[in-house]
Amino acid sequence: MTHQRSEHAAEARAMTGESGAPPASRRAFLAGTGAVAGAAAVAALTGGPLAQPARAAEVGGRSSGYAPVPKSALGPPLNADGYFVGQIHGDLYWVTDGAYQAMFLTTEEGVVIVDAPATIGHNLPRAIDEVTRANGRPATVTHQVYSHSHSDHIGASVLFGPDVVRIGHRECRTLLLRDNDPNRPAPTVTFEDRYTLTVGGRRLDLVYHGPNHSPDTIFIWAPEQQALMLVDVFFPGWVPWKQLAVSQDIPDWIKAQDVAMSYPWQTLVAGHLGRLGTRADAELQIAYVADLLAGARHTVNNLDPTPFFKQYGDNAWAIYKAYLDAASAQIAAPVTARYLGKLAAADVFTVDNAFTVFEFSVREDGGMQGPFGIHP
Ligand SMILES: [Zn+2]
Repeated sequence: MTHQRSEHAAEARAMTGESGAPPASRRAFLAGTGAVAGAAAVAALTGGPLAQPARAAEVGGRSSGYAPVPKSALGPPLNADGYFVGQIHGDLYWVTDGAYQAMFLTTEEGVVIVDAPATIGHNLPRAIDEVTRANGRPATVTHQVYSHSHSDHIGASVLFGPDVVRIGHRECRTLLLRDNDPNRPAPTVTFEDRYTLTVGGRRLDLVYHGPNHSPDTIFIWAPEQQALMLVDVFFPGWVPWKQLAVSQDIPDWIKAQDVAMSYPWQTLVAGHLGRLGTRADAELQIAYVADLLAGARHTVNNLDPTPFFKQYGDNAWAIYKAYLDAASAQIAAPVTARYLGKLAAADVFTVDNAFTVFEFSVREDGGMQGPFGIHP
């Protein structure tokens, strides 16, 4: 009961803007100078896709210190409220603020929404109203699917009230009951391997393929629309977010890319950034990660840590830090050069991504310890 009351209280606060609603200043920032509009302007100023890898982008006349974002990485412009809503196919739509994405299905019995990113927030009901006014379907959200439990992707769930049927993996419910966050009510319908959600004659298949980005990440497959939603695994047009999206199981995150490719999707909703994904986007990311892995396997057998022992003496952590930093830099350098101009922000997160591949896929989970293997 306590939990139920706190849900209602939080919902009331969010609805009345006492808290939960984004500050007006942030909304204006996202609408006016947000990622998509700002980056598009930068790409136009600097001539679009990168010609010279060393050339830094200019933002407001200042050098950002990073290469410009290729135009191909950017999505459609946002409206005055700071969002874009578009049709995927048939009754299936997506909405973005340039950084995050949600998906929704309109039916004759109500709307099914997948995720509710906090940064899109109150623009989610605005986008749904816009679409359902045009297609004559009811605007009421009756069902919500959680891609996974993380707050950035479902932190605005409270906006849809306490009566929505929420569906997620069994582990998602466990995690959300633990987190006890009024903005993220735990799913009341859970499943283990597979769940077919049918609303108003429309269908989504929810499938669990094991842990990857998080222990509860699911694949949301729209068979009629040939669309797949999989969050925090692919980053269309961009390199993956820091440390492969701070994923909890790196070998299985890498494998999840291949599992995704086994579905015959034509459109990917990846949960991040300003546009949808194509199969070519996914193939390019798979190649980027494979290149990091090849570099990491080479580095573990070729980078000599002796100088770090000499430099740092009895400070074991300093020795390891220097070793890991040197390994990450060595792995990242050729990969960054190869993907600059093809994947946005290759010069921002490739060193962090190299560290993650080296530390988990090669050393800890891969069992290749190189100079730190079994003592002779
Ligand atoms: Zn996440």
